[in-house]
Amino acid sequence: MAVQENCGSSCLYEALVVGAGIQGSFTAYHLAKRGQKTLLLEQFPLPHTRGSSHGQSRIIRSAYPQDYYVAMMKRAYQLWAVLETEAGTLLHRPTPMLVLGQQQNSEFQSFWQTMQRLDIPHEVFTPQALAQKYPEIHPHGGEMAVADLTAGVLYPDKALQAVQEQFQRSGGTVRDGEKVLRILPGNVVTVTTNRGEYRAKHLVITAGPWTGCLLAPLGVQLPLQPLRIHVYYWQAKGPGTRSHVEHLPCFLGISLNQEAHHIYGLPSDEYPGLVKICYHHGSPVEPDQPDQLDRASAVPDRQILQDFVRNYLPGLDPEPAVEERCLYTNTPDEDFVLDRHPRFNNIIIGAGFSGHGFKFAPVIGEILCKLSLGEETPYNLAPFRISRFLPSPKATL
Ligand SMILES: Cc1cc2nc3c(=O)[nH]c(=O)nc-3n(C[C@H](O)[C@H](O)[C@H](O)COP(=O)(O)OP(=O)(O)OC[C@H]3O[C@@H](n4cnc5c(N)ncnc54)[C@H](O)[C@@H]3O)c2cc1C
Repeated sequence: MAVQENCGSSCLYEALVVGAGIQGSFTAYHLAKRGQKTLLLEQFPLPHTRGSSHGQSRIIRSAYPQDYYVAMMKRAYQLWAVLETEAGTLLHRPTPMLVLGQQQNSEFQSFWQTMQRLDIPHEVFTPQALAQKYPEIHPHGGEMAVADLTAGVLYPDKALQAVQEQFQRSGGTVRDGEKVLRILPGNVVTVTTNRGEYRAKHLVITAGPWTGCLLAPLGVQLPLQPLRIHVYYWQAKGPGTRSHVEHLPCFLGISLNQEAHHIYGLPSDEYPGLVKICYHHGSPVEPDQPDQLDRASAVPDRQILQDFVRNYLPGLDPEPAVEERCLYTNTPDEDFVLDRHPRFNNIIIGAGFSGHGFKFAPVIGEILCKLSLGEETPYNLAPFRISRFLPSPKATL
């Protein structure tokens, strides 16, 4: 990526953002649009595939069991549209997302009730109606579905490039291939990288799976667990089923095959004719050594997905055709961390996006920007506070 050099290491920035994944890039974008002289630092040359924000597809949806996520998504959709206009390109395509589950399942009920209560456009399918509309889906356990009609597929690589370009157009500076090694808190924060030293009045840490490494020397131990996620693509068994399979909508399976975690799928995009189906959980890893797995805690995701495909999508070959990988950074409750450092008021943390943060990135960037500027946000941020992990602040600081 070309570096737009506004000022060098001697210069004082209003804001410095660590990590140019989707969350840091949107945070920097909002800060620059607010007239803040902003530096965005990224450890790897951009673009890269070693964090969480790369690839060709992510689900965007309003459907969530929790009202606070639905409220944030309303704003996220508006801001995605703004970026599309600014960039002059589409960053998503609409397609319904089926929430698939047993009618009596409490989580399935929560999704459905929230869609009704908050007027999210949706359509309900009995098992019979589902089989009729989507003959390639077998409601193996008598599942029904509620389709979120606001949903779609986002294009992450394009989105990341677009937001970084707009950030630079607003006067921001990106420096990639530059790893932050040390953060010295103070009224003016000093950041040391492998290439230099920078000073800023405000710091935002959005370092994805590496966030824990940056926070530990600042006296905060958050339960952020990097997980290695396998991304599997599946092909139709024969030409007869191919056209059906290509028209599958997005789906989110709740407790299918008795699995503890969701199974989700996206229509074919990046590999024509292949459907992306993943298990929403992975195996603990160190982000710098994603190939070194502790076998005892490895998740049997491939087996789980093969069983799912055999039972629910029998038109697909139960051997995945392509396998890729990505990283999640999970919190124990799978809610994000969007907060100030407990001691250093001018250090803001955005982390723990737990495998569902991409769709929110424009509004998360706006929230982190506002926290940085000391402004109120209209959202319920209580679920995202650091204090939920710190029973006694004194014990950990
Ligand atoms: C397989 C997969 C499927 C997903 N599907 C969906 C979906 O359908 N819908 C959805 O909404 N979300 C989805 N997500 C989640 C979403 O992609 C993530 O929540 C989001 O990308 C997290 O972005 P981030 O900016 O926090 O992290 P990252 O993208 O990892 O960015 C952090 C950046 O910080 C940099 N960094 C770290 N340490 C330093 C340092 N010391 N100095 C400088 N730079 C540093 C890293 O190199 C990295 O570029 C999915 C994720 C995966 C992996």
